[in-house]
Amino acid sequence: MTETPSQQLPAVAFLGLGHMGGPMAANLAAAGVQVTGYDIVPEACSAAREQGIEVVETPQEAARSADVVITMFPSGKHVVDAYVGIDGAVGLLAAAPAGTTFLDCSTINISEAQEATELARAAGFTAADAPVSGGVVGATAGTLAFMVGAEPEVFERVRPLLEIMGGRVVHCGGSGMGQAAKICNNMILGVSMVAVSEAFVLAERLGLEHQAMYDVVSNASGQCWALTTNCPVPGPVPTSPANKDFEPGFAGALMAKDLNLATTALDETGAAAPMGRLAAELYNQFVADGQAGKDFSGIITTLRDGGRKSSREE
Ligand code: NAD
Repeated sequence: MTETPSQQLPAVAFLGLGHMGGPMAANLAAAGVQVTGYDIVPEACSAAREQGIEVVETPQEAARSADVVITMFPSGKHVVDAYVGIDGAVGLLAAAPAGTTFLDCSTINISEAQEATELARAAGFTAADAPVSGGVVGATAGTLAFMVGAEPEVFERVRPLLEIMGGRVVHCGGSGMGQAAKICNNMILGVSMVAVSEAFVLAERLGLEHQAMYDVVSNASGQCWALTTNCPVPGPVPTSPANKDFEPGFAGALMAKDLNLATTALDETGAAAPMGRLAAELYNQFVADGQAGKDFSGIITTLRDGGRKSSREE
């Protein structure tokens, strides 16, 4: 008998059915993958059930029949704790059957991603880190970009699942290299958004119209995603969050999180990145100012206000 493609796909335990994990799991289920879900928050479980996911009562029950255990958690501590089990609970590593692959799609510290993979390996399993970019819109549409850190054979095992949830899947190297790629990209993004915002604030002070600056820079060497897709002023790019009072998009809290992960990686490696560190400081301040839920391009309002404050103080 010829197998259909869905019969060849590994069965998945999906843990963490939040803003990202919920729609990712739903896309797997819609593609015919056998998905068993679990989340600690009852609302996330009900939303996932409505999307056709079989949600079970414990993480161990989810893991028990899985070929691949996917986690989509807020932090590395959540991942490691779930793998090993805390407060007397049986961890995922103790519950999963032989041959399971652990695939963590959360954005976490590189060192924690490597620790999670080592723990899985020590327990006799294979593992990969595969953080994403593309946000909730990409998770829902199945167009996420996956950056994967794994041994080649592990990458090949998880690739069919990632191709269902994503539009682009890049094998970045061994353990932790998916997180490394994600953190490097987002450090560029944070720094470039600050640079574009500073240039608009300076243009305003100089009397240069937003549209005129955009028309020049978008076709010149200052061109970048922060300008041409996520433009921090309303008008030139009608779809950018600046046109909707900085409704995200990509929330400032997540940018601060990713830049803090980059800062940890800078500390651990000794690499110099004064701009990356400054961007982290600015986004931590953005969050402290109550802007955590605004799109990260809203940093322009902080920069603009900071400018006004210093001119008043003169
Ligand atoms: P979220 O808070 O909406 O979802 C995380 C879910 O994990 C929550 O529902 C929480 O209850 C659940 N959870 C925590 N511990 C658990 C456990 N032990 N067992 C089961 N469930 C548990 O967060 P999110 O926005 O979905 O983000 C998830 C990850 O994806 C984060 O690491 C984030 O940095 C990354 N990410 C998010 C975005 C985005 O736009 N939201 C974009 C790219 C990457």
